[in-house]
Amino acid sequence: MERINVMRPYLGREEAEAAMAAIESGWVAQGPRVADFERAFAELVQAEHAVAVSSCTAALHLALVAVGVEAGDEVIVPSFSFIATANAPTYLGATPVMVDVDAKTGNITPETVAPAITGRTRAIIAVDQGGVPLDLAPLRALADEHGLALVEDAACAAGSTYDGAPVGSGADATAWSFHPRKLLTTGEGGMVTTDDPERAARVRRLREHAMDVSAADRHQSVLAPAEQYLEIGFNYRMTDIQAAVGIVQLERLPGVVERRRELVARYRAAIADVPGLRLVEDPPWGTTNYQSAWVEVGEGYPTDREGLLAALAAHGISARRGIMAAHRQPAYAHLGLDDAALPATAALTDSTLILPLYHQLQESDVDRVAAVLRDPGATP
Ligand SMILES: *Cc1c(COP(=O)(O)O)cnc(C)c1O
Repeated sequence: MERINVMRPYLGREEAEAAMAAIESGWVAQGPRVADFERAFAELVQAEHAVAVSSCTAALHLALVAVGVEAGDEVIVPSFSFIATANAPTYLGATPVMVDVDAKTGNITPETVAPAITGRTRAIIAVDQGGVPLDLAPLRALADEHGLALVEDAACAAGSTYDGAPVGSGADATAWSFHPRKLLTTGEGGMVTTDDPERAARVRRLREHAMDVSAADRHQSVLAPAEQYLEIGFNYRMTDIQAAVGIVQLERLPGVVERRRELVARYRAAIADVPGLRLVEDPPWGTTNYQSAWVEVGEGYPTDREGLLAALAAHGISARRGIMAAHRQPAYAHLGLDDAALPATAALTDSTLILPLYHQLQESDVDRVAAVLRDPGATP
């Protein structure tokens, strides 16, 4: 019985050749390929500016600095997210205020956010969880009404759309991830996009020790001018080797999204009549890239989430528990939040699982997984 993994990155010879060309060029740190990758990415997501960094976690950190978050501020975040979403404000000495999500999409809404707004709130981080686009316009209106910055954590959402356009353009700054778990990978990597030139310039500076000229620019002149360090910065640079890979990955993205949507449609057709199983779907306002194809195991299904995970494992299929709830982690025990305050988050975290989905997955693999979903009691 051949094992089916939950995910696999999709990288080919073209990425290897692009990385080799960067190495052979002799310029491997942040340089011309990073600049090319930024231009191509900005075009893809229809942003005025894109600044490449070493991870989405770094992108979130710098995006928060760029919108003015400071120590002592409160930043509203969903608990239902990878922990980096909550860590970013914590790095700045701000408090992540964790709110609940919509039970259907897994994303925050004005209804979950509004009660958490206080006089100390400075920003909201809105996540397109698992690639499902959040309904940004009503959140934007709420943020504007209260004078709050809106940062979008689109780590999972390259290739997802909102209102007919790529996600991310309605926020003050948007953070993206190129970790191998996402659709588009550079090994590790991230990006900040924004339409605001001053915010972009600040992020560009902060990723590189807040130097007033970049190392790449200094290298252009034979007699390099003395640089100045304008504030306390970071080393959050992406390398040109990574960017070379990213440029190739960008070209693959439309095909990758299309393939994932085909495979999910096959899952959907196969389990449509199974009571108690709900497969994530497009919301009315956009399309998901299906970064995570999750099912919710509910009433009427013959077993619970743990039972289904075990049944899949017995058939050689590796699925994963759904998205985490940051409020349950020891790192955030000091916030003193319990499940009663975040009921939809608790329910989704406990009852969802992520199905195998990646570009190279075959129709026959989907059918094998779906057979277990239809009859988790079948003997392997
Ligand atoms: C993956 C992920 C991150 C972190 O991305 P890195 O590039 O690994 O730092 C942040 N937020 C969300 C929602 C994610 O899924």
